[in-house]
Amino acid sequence: SKFKTIFAYSLCKEVVDEYRTYALEKGIDLTLEGDKKASFFGNKNRIKQVIINLVQNAIEASKKSEAVRIVIRKEDNNILIEVINKGKVIPSAILKRVFEPFFTTKSYGTGLGLFICKSIVEEHKGHIEAESNFDKGTIFRVILPSGGE
Ligand code: ADP
Ligand code: MG
Repeated sequence: SKFKTIFAYSLCKEVVDEYRTYALEKGIDLTLEGDKKASFFGNKNRIKQVIINLVQNAIEASKKSEAVRIVIRKEDNNILIEVINKGKVIPSAILKRVFEPFFTTKSYGTGLGLFICKSIVEEHKGHIEAESNFDKGTIFRVILPSGGE
């Protein structure tokens, strides 16, 4: 199968390398920090697509001179990949619908990005969740069972 041991940091590093220039053109600093050893068992290209969709949304939601951060952590038997942006807080009525297929607030959005993220993460026996508040900003958090190391 295509399932292998994947280091979350190096996967996210590829996304940062590919999207850094695009972000900088919009005046947004795309950064990566956290646990370099955290690993999971999965399909690299599928999880990479998840991170790309989250980064794309975070950049679209950001204003000039705001940062988009990717943070990797280990917690219990899981690894957490968080994509964090500042900018407008997502109202709770919207927040609870963002993973629905075809739900979009954008004129040219497909509303499929987060639905696809959720399907992929669930194929990996993981979860995806979102929170948004003034203090912490907007956080999309991918939680995957750690392992494979
Ligand atoms: P699309 O990007 O095509 O609209 P998505 O499924 O990727 O579809 O996202 C659905 C909706 O969730 C977006 O239209 C937007 O309203 C909201 N959303 C997603 N990510 C963010 C974010 N980082 N900040 C604010 N709103 C977001
Ligand atoms: Mg999107």
